[in-house]
Amino acid sequence: MTFETIKESSLELPVKDKIELIGVLKSSYSRFDEHATEVSACPVCYSERIVKNGTRKGVQKYVCKDCKKNFNYKTNTVLSKVQKLNQWNEFVEDFVSLNITPIKALSQKLNLSEQTVFNWRHKLLSAMVLKTNPVFIKEPVEFDETFLRISRKGRRNLGIADKHKYRRWRKSLTGDSYNNVKVFFAAGRNSKQLDICQSHTGRTTVIDMKNYFTSDKFKNPTIYSDAHITYKSFFKDANIPHEIFKGKDHISPLNKEVHNQAVNAFIRNFKYFVNEHLRGVSTKYLPFYIKWYQFINDSKEQVFKKDILKFNLADKVCNTMVEDRSGLELYRQSETGFLRFLNNNGRTNYGNCKHHYYADKIAA
Ligand SMILES: [Zn+2]
Repeated sequence: MTFETIKESSLELPVKDKIELIGVLKSSYSRFDEHATEVSACPVCYSERIVKNGTRKGVQKYVCKDCKKNFNYKTNTVLSKVQKLNQWNEFVEDFVSLNITPIKALSQKLNLSEQTVFNWRHKLLSAMVLKTNPVFIKEPVEFDETFLRISRKGRRNLGIADKHKYRRWRKSLTGDSYNNVKVFFAAGRNSKQLDICQSHTGRTTVIDMKNYFTSDKFKNPTIYSDAHITYKSFFKDANIPHEIFKGKDHISPLNKEVHNQAVNAFIRNFKYFVNEHLRGVSTKYLPFYIKWYQFINDSKEQVFKKDILKFNLADKVCNTMVEDRSGLELYRQSETGFLRFLNNNGRTNYGNCKHHYYADKIAA
């Protein structure tokens, strides 16, 4: 039977059957298939000696002549081995709506378990983490930092004997505590770009500043910040133009241009997003949520400028996910990545599954 005859005979079907047919087609199709590009190398051994090897559900399959592995465009992307990929159509629609739909509501809408929706969200975000990082070129950049308490949200058996005591202890943690994650914020005055970076735990040192400001993100910027002593000495030594302001209103009395109002608004919003809207996030997923916040911000900016329309946004997300080759590893490594982060900050006494993360603090 040719495609034309299938089309023609389907037109004659009763309405009830048409609806069923639409359902069947929808369930065997994912919008990522539209974005599938021709695979040019084996995703396992990177050999280019690959050949086409039939199709499955309309999707091209390949086989590698060297390692003999079968694969398709989804292999080694975050979409690899995802069941019910057709439901990602709605999932992506929800994502680009820029609503922060609660996991529970989304799981009901898609008729999937909360755990599945939770995993999908993290997969989607991990595919986006290393994409489109801003570069600040020859412009004033507002810089500031904030902190979030290290969180093991979602982890069972935290070993908290006394919940009240635990909460009191958490509230007592100040900004420079080793139980807090410092997050750097930079906002370009002219470019309107925003960069958010999970930096370190505890007090901000010159090394933390160096790690951040000598990255490729900054090309001859002028930094506006408060008069933090570490900032002052770092920028002076690094020969980076630096203007400071003092006082509560965050504006320099000498130059009204020197202030941090934009970056402070971002920090306030971000903390609201994490602490109120999402009711806290596990630190091991913080890089994903940072990316989400940046995505919402960038998209709003672009929609506001009418650069893109919404349907383009969905295409952009799908393209990113299909082309991405690093997100899957990032997603799988979120726990070890978190432990590495703690280790790099001199913490080895807790953090892994066998130890009770807070046990020593609560006992004290
Ligand atoms: Zn191969």
